[in-house]
Amino acid sequence: MSSEVEKAQAAASGADSGAPTIFDKIISKEIPAQVIYEDDQALAFRDISPQGPVHFLVIPKVRNGLTGLSKATEEHKPLLGHLLYVAAQVAKQEGLAKGYRVTINDGPDGSQSVYHLHLHIIGGRQMTWPPG
Ligand code: C5P
Repeated sequence: MSSEVEKAQAAASGADSGAPTIFDKIISKEIPAQVIYEDDQALAFRDISPQGPVHFLVIPKVRNGLTGLSKATEEHKPLLGHLLYVAAQVAKQEGLAKGYRVTINDGPDGSQSVYHLHLHIIGGRQMTWPPG
């Protein structure tokens, strides 16, 4: 089992605790991150462990129960749309004119390691399929 998968499996045990995550500390500026976009609902910052020449995350500023996509309810629909729109706008800002990949890892099987919904946007290289 890869270390990434082990990390994700371990993270799942505290998934529904509602405890603050590392992303709450990024939102409150307690820990530094390279923020590349911010509005009242969303924050985009560069992933600390980039999987491509460009790799950024888009997160909601208020988690409101959205530890992961599988927790989405009717009330989250406008926010989910906004996060996707922000992803596209920031990808454009980052010069990803040839395309990019948007990924949401959900739960242990999805290898989610931070339980605060986030979109990965990865670009600047040729992607392959299937993902690992
Ligand atoms: O989808 P998953 O939960 O595995 O992704 C979490 C992501 O958060 C990882 O890609 C990791 O590199 C990133 N991260 C970050 N800054 C931190 C902690 C984690 O960019 N301080």
